[in-house]
Amino acid sequence: MILSGLVLEFKLKRRKVIAEIVDAGDCRYFKKGTKFVLGGFTPTGLCDSAYIVLSRDARVLRYGGALPWAKEGKVLTRCPDPHGALWQLKLANDSDIEAATSAAGQRRYRYGKASSCDEVSACRGMERNCPFSLVGDSALSENIKQGVKNSAWLSTEAKRQNNDMKHYYRLKVALAACPNACTQPQVKDIGIIANVMPRQIGSSCNGCGCCEDVCQEEAIAVRDGMAELLPERCVGCGVCVRECPQEAIESDGVRYRILVGGTMGRHPRWGQELCVVDGSHVVQVVESFLDKIAQQAKPGERVADVVERIEVTRLRKEIFPDV
Ligand code: SF4
Ligand code: SF4
Ligand code: SF4
Repeated sequence: MILSGLVLEFKLKRRKVIAEIVDAGDCRYFKKGTKFVLGGFTPTGLCDSAYIVLSRDARVLRYGGALPWAKEGKVLTRCPDPHGALWQLKLANDSDIEAATSAAGQRRYRYGKASSCDEVSACRGMERNCPFSLVGDSALSENIKQGVKNSAWLSTEAKRQNNDMKHYYRLKVALAACPNACTQPQVKDIGIIANVMPRQIGSSCNGCGCCEDVCQEEAIAVRDGMAELLPERCVGCGVCVRECPQEAIESDGVRYRILVGGTMGRHPRWGQELCVVDGSHVVQVVESFLDKIAQQAKPGERVADVVERIEVTRLRKEIFPDV
């Protein structure tokens, strides 16, 4: 009895907080007046970077704390993006929660929208709306959706399942505009990650060390007055290429790593690298991969199961016989 009384009291102390945009700034996703209820987990549709700054202050309010900069129980805080949205936080009452929940149900999100048989999601960097973005190509996710629709895999599966594809059978594709990979492409059927790999250091390098300072992977170091690459550590974030004042770091520009066969659930697996291509070949590779999967799949097998059974090295040879 005593224990249940304590648990009840503990739960009652946790209030919810309403976060409302009072100035949208340059945010391309939400308007002034957009509200989210913060209760301990990232609300659906709210981007991670906003949640990171909001959750800190919301937690203080939820636990009854006082922030020195709060005015009449309201706290203002800004998204971390340059010119990001300005949010107001306050403890929520029942009508706030009801209104925000109903608005969230009607809100249409730009990304992650599912058609009947596929889910293609792209990070906000694909619209150049992230400081880490290596590429702005808002058309790519639409082109990939079209490629998926054209593929033999989708038509075979849709027919087999009477156009009523179960959620867990839906093909999941994720695009990320840099190797930070916010859309989790590593655990999707097809993951596409933009990268910029430094290829070599040109003779204009003067050993200033700027590249060494900005590289978080310790993948480039200055030795004897000249930068040296350690390719096995490099993730292809392209920061050193961008920051070198001498433009001495050569690269082949933006490339896309295509991972296949990732999955979550009971038996999670990382996607494996099928190939690295330039932007003009991404859709073609997606279609060829899915056509090949359609030929090889046994009834009931998902994409990740087929990739695991026939192995990515064999798939690669079959899809690119001339390479
Ligand atoms: S994957 Fe990179 S570009 Fe895309 S949102 Fe994350 S950090 Fe930004
Ligand atoms: S930032 Fe450029 S110039 Fe400076 S050490 Fe690195 S490669 Fe050389
Ligand atoms: S591309 Fe990124 S990880 Fe690779 S060397 Fe440059 S800064 Fe380091």
